[in-house]
Amino acid sequence: MEKLGFYRDTWAEIDLDAITSNVSSMKTHLGSHVKLIAVVKANAYGHGDVQVAKAAIETGAEQLAVAFLDEAISLRHAGITVPILVMGASRQTDVKIALEYDLALTVFSLKWLKEAVNQEEAKDKRVSIHLKVDTGMGRLGIREEQEFKDVLQFIRESTFFNLEGVYTHFATADELDTHYFEEQLHKFTLFVKNIDIEKIMIHCANSATGLRFPENVFNAVRFGISMYGLAPSLEIINQLPFQLKEAFSLHSKLVHVKRIPKGAKVSYGATYVADEDQWIGTLPIGYADGWIRRLRESEVLVDGKRVPIIGRICMDQLMIKLPNEKAIGTKVTLIGSQDKEKITVDEVASRLDTINYEVPCIITSRVPRVFLRNQGVVEVRNELLRGSFK
Ligand SMILES: *Cc1c(COP(=O)(O)O)cnc(C)c1O
Repeated sequence: MEKLGFYRDTWAEIDLDAITSNVSSMKTHLGSHVKLIAVVKANAYGHGDVQVAKAAIETGAEQLAVAFLDEAISLRHAGITVPILVMGASRQTDVKIALEYDLALTVFSLKWLKEAVNQEEAKDKRVSIHLKVDTGMGRLGIREEQEFKDVLQFIRESTFFNLEGVYTHFATADELDTHYFEEQLHKFTLFVKNIDIEKIMIHCANSATGLRFPENVFNAVRFGISMYGLAPSLEIINQLPFQLKEAFSLHSKLVHVKRIPKGAKVSYGATYVADEDQWIGTLPIGYADGWIRRLRESEVLVDGKRVPIIGRICMDQLMIKLPNEKAIGTKVTLIGSQDKEKITVDEVASRLDTINYEVPCIITSRVPRVFLRNQGVVEVRNELLRGSFK
């Protein structure tokens, strides 16, 4: 693998076959009248945006969505040509960038529209926009029906905008209690009742909604977390309509193995004290890779067995307690499977008292992403060397 573009024995593996399997299952589940928007914001939830986007598109995803213009521009630079929706707020002064790169912007106020028009004279190209309505998430979106009507009127009369979509976002679609979800869905239905669903994309569904309520998604789904093979929440993990395949795993190798005597101490603060003679292994991964200090109580896999991390996690390294002597270069799995044993993203999330979404996102760009197909390496992306190696 070294030849493929990285020189430290720590890497994340991204199984692109898992991505295509999840996209394909979701498309079948939703039916052919529903467009699949692959959500690849935040470097595809830490997996690798260009590679995931290409795998999703090849499996039939019609569009992509990201949070910010910069993310969309980066995908265009990589040669991706499908429609891309920027879901976050963009500056009015940047509509020319959206035009230049053919990106759809999210709009959520009349004031924004009026100011955006002033930025540039209408020309033959129109700015594609999706209107966002806030039905209860309280983040971005038009809340009042009157403003929504005024915005529609303004767009109809302008030659500057092209209304491509109307959408909203649910706050509780991943919870067993569907009360608030139904309230939001009802509000959204009222907002879009006069919108022509034959011509305009109407979308409200994230992964949880698309998986659980395919009959309520209108004509497009924004497929994020479950494209990566992760359940939107533990609450609904047993309600999934098909098997998700986890794409992300994290690995390292033993770079030093030593025997320490009873009473010897390990790592900063000398907080770990060996209660017997034991074998200790050092791994070249630490909190600067996103394996943060809170994970000091967690386990990793060596030769298919769970072993504990001991002492404080350092910036670039950590130590584990081995059951016996192991060879330098032995593979250690921090997330993923070895033989029959598996450490899931959900397990790491629960140790961190957070949600699975956050885990691959916080594995930093210092960790190269190795992309697999048919269990073979097809590409390595190493941000440190500013490169992609095939
Ligand atoms: C991130 C995001 C999604 C994707 O949600 P998942 O739960 O990951 O499927 C959809 N819509 C919006 C507006 C988002 O910000």
